[in-house]
Amino acid sequence: MSEGARRWSRRDLLRRSALLAGGAVFGAVATETWWRTRRLPIGGGPASATVGNRIQDVGSGALTAVWSVATERPLVALTFDDGPAPQWTPMVLDTLARHQVPATFFLVGAKVRKHADVVRDRLGEHEVGNHSWAHHDLAQRDAAEAYDDLSRSHDAIADVTGRTPRLIRPPYGHMGGAVLHAAARLNCRLVLWSLQMVEGQYPDDPAGHARRIVGDVRPGTILLGHDVGPRNRLVALNGLPDMINGLRDRGYTFVTVSTLLGAGVSPAQTG
Ligand SMILES: [Zn+2]
Repeated sequence: MSEGARRWSRRDLLRRSALLAGGAVFGAVATETWWRTRRLPIGGGPASATVGNRIQDVGSGALTAVWSVATERPLVALTFDDGPAPQWTPMVLDTLARHQVPATFFLVGAKVRKHADVVRDRLGEHEVGNHSWAHHDLAQRDAAEAYDDLSRSHDAIADVTGRTPRLIRPPYGHMGGAVLHAAARLNCRLVLWSLQMVEGQYPDDPAGHARRIVGDVRPGTILLGHDVGPRNRLVALNGLPDMINGLRDRGYTFVTVSTLLGAGVSPAQTG
């Protein structure tokens, strides 16, 4: 190899490593903030809460989103997402019935159709909410797609349970303007949560998990659980009796999300 070729190859090598290092840094940045690099459409798309240039078809024209409720009363709303499914939903319903605890089930429309027998005539004092048709990320859908998905699920839930959902919980708690628009069209409130089960932190320790949740609940808490999912979620479900007894010992009353919303202090009163 000539001196010149060696020099070039060394320079080339340095250049390549610089490019590689730069690429790695760019890659890291791109992974963390890729969403900043995407230019969202001005109208339509997942972020826009308006569609078209005609009058907006948005039900009452107002929308509420709630994470928890402002109240001094010791009320808590227990919620279960992603069902129904035959594995655990009946067990959860049995536990709730035994303890006379009303809860709110955010149902997945396709599963409601598939497992109608699991929930039909079994919902008693419970409330139902809409958790989308197939648990896709609705923050990636435009307003028409989000509406189609949620209304399909809405109809399935109404058909099978005989109840019209007035609450929507978007999968993953993800939402853009399109989901707000779709929820308004369906005259539903958006319900997130202020506390969630932490099954991964208490493997095989239902009592420990229950103590943790009992200690963290505050008046007006909307508590997120799941009656479907990976096996480790059973920690929360197996500890449900402990959780119920522990919260009742602290003076708490279990209510559905809508009852909790009705008991809340309005923003005007708190301001
Ligand atoms: Zn979910």
